[in-house]
Amino acid sequence: MQPTVDYIQSRFDEYNTRYFGGSLPPVPIKLSHARTFLGKVTFVRHRTWLFGAVRNEKFVLRINTRFDLPEELIEDTILHEMIHYFIAVNQLRDTSAHGKLFRSEMKRINAEGNRHITISYRLSTISQLMEASQNPAAPKAGGVE
Ligand SMILES: [Zn+2]
Repeated sequence: MQPTVDYIQSRFDEYNTRYFGGSLPPVPIKLSHARTFLGKVTFVRHRTWLFGAVRNEKFVLRINTRFDLPEELIEDTILHEMIHYFIAVNQLRDTSAHGKLFRSEMKRINAEGNRHITISYRLSTISQLMEASQNPAAPKAGGVE
């Protein structure tokens, strides 16, 4: 399927309530046609002049619609990006882009929701998944590394 903004918004609202206690502020959602990512959270790191503190702002949640992907993979991609958003919007520190904090949130949500969120999807994986989605006997989307 190729998700619409309304679809992504309804998933965002559902997952926000279910996995983040409704704590995530609303975020603009944009559809992307990029070849290089399935989802992305972009924001501006704003350095306040007073104490040199950094505040993240102008968040946008981008979800790819170039590929016709299995719904479960789209849902897991939205969740993956929501973890990035959770960390960035709360100005939390992590050890790397997908560091300890990211991984512990990913594990928590995978366990609570029986999801299959992973750290990254390479484009070769995407094409495998696209083939798999047309073959009901193939492994489930999201279970592939
Ligand atoms: Zn990521």
